[in-house]
Amino acid sequence: MRRITTWSPEETAKLGERLGLLLRPGAVVCLLGDLGVGKTRFAQGIARGLGVTGAVTSPTFTIINEYQGHHPVYHMDFYRLSDPLELEDLGYEEYFFGSGITLIEWPERAGDLLPQERLDVAIDLSSEDVDMENTREISFSPRGAEFTALVENLIDLG
Ligand code: ADP
Ligand code: MG
Repeated sequence: MRRITTWSPEETAKLGERLGLLLRPGAVVCLLGDLGVGKTRFAQGIARGLGVTGAVTSPTFTIINEYQGHHPVYHMDFYRLSDPLELEDLGYEEYFFGSGITLIEWPERAGDLLPQERLDVAIDLSSEDVDMENTREISFSPRGAEFTALVENLIDLG
């Protein structure tokens, strides 16, 4: 697991953008963390890195927003899912196992439907000083060799 601290929303978006530049078609990135911690901000950066030029808005109410960058980008938020089975109706396999790039907020709600090969990114408030309200700790837990190499690249390029 690798951890990076950011000190502003812009810095979080910039880190997301750098990650987006490294993602390959078919990649799945899970964004874990409490409400308001910065998952959407990070996803907006990733989308930019993937060549999405328009506004990227929170998919909380739509569950899935689709964009076209250099590849299709699927930005999902499962906060409002009450049962992983609802993903069957959405045709989740097309997204998770297709050649687009999938970003998922609240992936916990998907139960065991998530692909084994993926990048888990957990965002937390700073544990060192809770008064630093713009500080975030962003932890990368790659699942699989491809994402392990990608995270090492991301850290090296930092
Ligand atoms: P989530 O999608 O996790 O619910 P959002 O990305 O919608 O969260 O909102 C994150 C909020 O936290 C924004 O208001 C943003 O300005 C603020 N914020 C403050 N510091 C940071 C930081 N370092 N990284 C990301 N967001 C931050
Ligand atoms: Mg969000």
